[in-house]
Amino acid sequence: WWGHVPAGAPDVILGIRDTYLKDPHPKKVNLGVGAYRDDDGKPFVLPSVRRAEEIIYEKCLNHEYGPISGEPPFTEACAKLAFGEKSKPLCEKTNATVQALSGTGALRLGFEFISRHYNKTREIWLPKPTWFNHPQICDAVCLPMKSYRYFAPKTLGFDVDGAVEDLSKAPEGAIVLLHACAHNPTGIDPKKHEWERLSKVIKERKLFPFFDMAYQGFATGDVDNDALAVRMFVDHGHEVMVAQSFAKNMGLYGERVGALTILCGDPETTARVMSQLKVIIRTIYSNPSINGSRIVQEILTSPELMKQWLGDVKSMADRVISMRKMLRSAIEAAGNKRTWNHITDQIGMFCYTGLNPEQVERLIKEFHIYLTKDGRISVAGITTKNVGYVAECMHKVTS
Ligand code: PMP
Repeated sequence: WWGHVPAGAPDVILGIRDTYLKDPHPKKVNLGVGAYRDDDGKPFVLPSVRRAEEIIYEKCLNHEYGPISGEPPFTEACAKLAFGEKSKPLCEKTNATVQALSGTGALRLGFEFISRHYNKTREIWLPKPTWFNHPQICDAVCLPMKSYRYFAPKTLGFDVDGAVEDLSKAPEGAIVLLHACAHNPTGIDPKKHEWERLSKVIKERKLFPFFDMAYQGFATGDVDNDALAVRMFVDHGHEVMVAQSFAKNMGLYGERVGALTILCGDPETTARVMSQLKVIIRTIYSNPSINGSRIVQEILTSPELMKQWLGDVKSMADRVISMRKMLRSAIEAAGNKRTWNHITDQIGMFCYTGLNPEQVERLIKEFHIYLTKDGRISVAGITTKNVGYVAECMHKVTS
């Protein structure tokens, strides 16, 4: 029955991980995977998550089905985290928030909802570059894509003029995908005044803003700071859609916990939107998993655990920031003639190094340092033990 089926394209990131695992070289380093590692290069379970797991275990809960849209205390806590305690749409209860299968599931659910119910220009405008899975998800729900300028190769920074110019040519109603913070793959976020320009052009052109918020807390170490863009857009009157993930900021990668929020303007529309989200969920996975969301709910609704978690997030973000500093100064100390300020200017887990495909190939083949072809490295994979070796090799391939 299935002999005619062609092979699917392998996943780039997981492919890198497999080659890395097979490499016997003692100094090998994996800078491809987007998961936090501690200073020994090991996966990290947040102490606040461990504590929440203990509390949940002691409660001796059962494993009955949860609600289709997730437990209300969970979804309410997710919305508060993204929009802030005093957010107007939350006070007015005009947010339709549902649990989703991590960030990817939230994006897919959002795009699926758009594909079924959006009655304006069905074009999704993606930043160039963007996370490789965004176009694949749009493709899966048959939404046409366009791109707007984001990365400026000359400055290795954000091309705000290019982005505003491109978006000012987008047709009315087009959907604009924005990375709320810690842009993947570039690690470059718009500054406050640049977000203001984006908000203005999106308002003027009557575009629809869809935020992908996969790294709240990871960019600056402060969850409220990292929600600046989302909250600013809401203050400016945009009815945004937000996809949230707890993979990175709670280290719950494999638990697949996230949420999707659609701001709807009035309670009646909210109820109808909510009912349609449930229709989609029911036909794909019926209802969400309950284990990971219990952990998130426990943390976000207990003042004590919340405080501990904010400290955990900050400690992860701080380690990444200090690795950026060490990497930059080690490359500079080696006498490299290029400028490397972008390593410390960029934020979040990833750094767009500016290395070209040949240099990346040399790093992989000669030096056993694994990264994606576009020169992106996961700074979370750098430790005090391997930073010297990574810097030495980056110096060699760029001199
Ligand atoms: N959006 C972006 C920009 C990401 O980088 C990621 C994770 N790599 C995600 C969404 C979703 O991740 P997850 O499905 O694991 O939450």
